[in-house]
Amino acid sequence: MKKFLVLLIVLLLVGCDKIEEQPKEKNKKDIEQKEEIKEEVKELTVEDYQNNNVDELGEVPIMMYHGIHNKSNSDTEYTGGNVDKDGYQRTAEAFRNDLEFYYNEGYRMIRLTDYVDGNIDVELGKSPIILTFDDGLSNNIKVTGLDDNGDIIIDPNSAVGILESFKEKYPDFNVTATFFVNGGLFEQEEYNEKILNWLVDNGYDIGNHTYTHVNFSNVDSSRTQEEVGKIYKLLDEIIPEKYVNIVALPFGSPYNLEHDNMQYIFNTNYNGKKYETKSTLRVGWKAESSPFSTDFNPKFLKRIRAYDNNGVEFDIEMNFKLLENNRYISDGNIDTIVIPSSKESLVNNNDSKEIITY
Ligand SMILES: [Zn+2]
Repeated sequence: MKKFLVLLIVLLLVGCDKIEEQPKEKNKKDIEQKEEIKEEVKELTVEDYQNNNVDELGEVPIMMYHGIHNKSNSDTEYTGGNVDKDGYQRTAEAFRNDLEFYYNEGYRMIRLTDYVDGNIDVELGKSPIILTFDDGLSNNIKVTGLDDNGDIIIDPNSAVGILESFKEKYPDFNVTATFFVNGGLFEQEEYNEKILNWLVDNGYDIGNHTYTHVNFSNVDSSRTQEEVGKIYKLLDEIIPEKYVNIVALPFGSPYNLEHDNMQYIFNTNYNGKKYETKSTLRVGWKAESSPFSTDFNPKFLKRIRAYDNNGVEFDIEMNFKLLENNRYISDGNIDTIVIPSSKESLVNNNDSKEIITY
């Protein structure tokens, strides 16, 4: 009984304290916010990991797109919305279908640069996906004019127009993409500054695809540096410090990390300035390793060609089937690496994140 009384007094005191501390204007919204925060720090159990098949050593798809054409799939003679034979060019209809598919399969977008840095912010049970576009085609972000405020009006059937509609439709999709440009940027010179600034202000990234879409196998070290440096210089002039130091290798060339020119891509000296590149992208066929895997090499990243080939030759369907056996599934916490205990020896933690095995 005595114990009970002491407890009661303590509870009352604590209670009074709390009441005193609470400002009168505390409204419902504040309390709701507090509850949300509580939800975030809720410790997950092994059961949560098991129920969601959490595996942060699983593979991550980096999708490679080029042009998005304002056409229906029935307008093309090729398979599933491919506009050209190899599916580098796709219809707007096909691109919308791809995005629906990724979302419904539980993929959520992250920035390429965050993936490289090991910052994978995806909710529990969901998987990261990365979108890339090469060649800076005008149909990536087609500007049709300026509004009364002088802001660009974007064609809703260009890639960015479509991405923006998904941003509204599925706010938890975390829509983003990285665009790899050549010297012509997005082929709409009068809007260069407005387009680049709009993209970085709206959560998209710009990377380097060389000044003239050069084949690195066929040039010397000084031309290599000129091709890489000229794009960084151009981006420096328009969006200083707001672009990503990542090069998408034109044609995927030189195909080999040991090639002589690779060192000049990673460490470029151009026009008296030094530029560093943290990653290069190949033309792809398969998903990449988790950034926490011992297999991960950010210098030379594989991509998946985003095209349709009836489920063969590493098209989207084939790759996402393969991923079902080994896809990255998040625990929802950016600070921890959660992996099944069978994979413990495969983890490479450079960021000193907390590793949890189960
Ligand atoms: Zn290209």
